[in-house]
Amino acid sequence: MAPGSVDRQKRPELRARVRRLLNLPRTLRHRALHETGICSVCGRDSRFLAHSDNLKESLCCVHCDAWTRVRMIADVLLGIYSRAGARSLSALVDEEAFRALSIYEAQASGPLHALLRKCPAYVCSEYFADTAPGTMHEGVRCEDLQALSCDDASLDLILHSSVLEHIPRPDDAFREAHRVLRPSGRLIFEVPMTDRGNPNLRPKSVVRVDTSSGRAVHLLEPAYHDDPLDPQGVLVYTDFGLDIEPRLSRFGFDVELVVRRLESSTMSHAVVVVARKM
Ligand SMILES: [Zn+2]
Repeated sequence: MAPGSVDRQKRPELRARVRRLLNLPRTLRHRALHETGICSVCGRDSRFLAHSDNLKESLCCVHCDAWTRVRMIADVLLGIYSRAGARSLSALVDEEAFRALSIYEAQASGPLHALLRKCPAYVCSEYFADTAPGTMHEGVRCEDLQALSCDDASLDLILHSSVLEHIPRPDDAFREAHRVLRPSGRLIFEVPMTDRGNPNLRPKSVVRVDTSSGRAVHLLEPAYHDDPLDPQGVLVYTDFGLDIEPRLSRFGFDVELVVRRLESSTMSHAVVVVARKM
């Protein structure tokens, strides 16, 4: 896999600034939910601004724009990989052992990408329906998590966030992650596991779109999530639940769920899955 040298960071930063401006009235309305603290992504003493009641997708760092689920992934990376007590991803990417890892992120923009791209063996991608995996689309590498172009046992860490629910065949993505990871390599991802307004985690996954016949059959009312690359939004195929743990185990992963309860949020929990290849 060739190093991904794509720099699309400037555009998202500009978009983040515009979004912040457009969100200003909503941010003022939600100011009772704002928080302060050290940002685990940029490492700065920060304010985290809420612009909606969905705190998983909000509470954005005023310095680096990292929102709750992004900062949560940074926390998980720090806990697993820091050897020198790094308190932020910006410090972790300077640690020698972390810099030695082969990292693949299924996203070519955002606060994590902005720092991880400093690591020498970091690659990133987006998915484009009309582009072959492993080839470029307007300067961005295309990868399909269900059919990666990476060699067997070539990666130490795979990262994605709010992606898995949009994949037609998630088991293929689990199988592929296991194939391309080295022994003890980790697949770390955030995936939504609550229904809006429900205080509990979903116990069992729900298939919304059945693709087993080779075509998409909607079993439930189609649901879409916001997508920075697609103004139409992106279709949700599966609402994942706690059964993701035994499901991943069957593919040869040792699985841990990192769960955070989000008080006063319409999405009551954020979950990061850490799956280590056994
Ligand atoms: Zn920050």
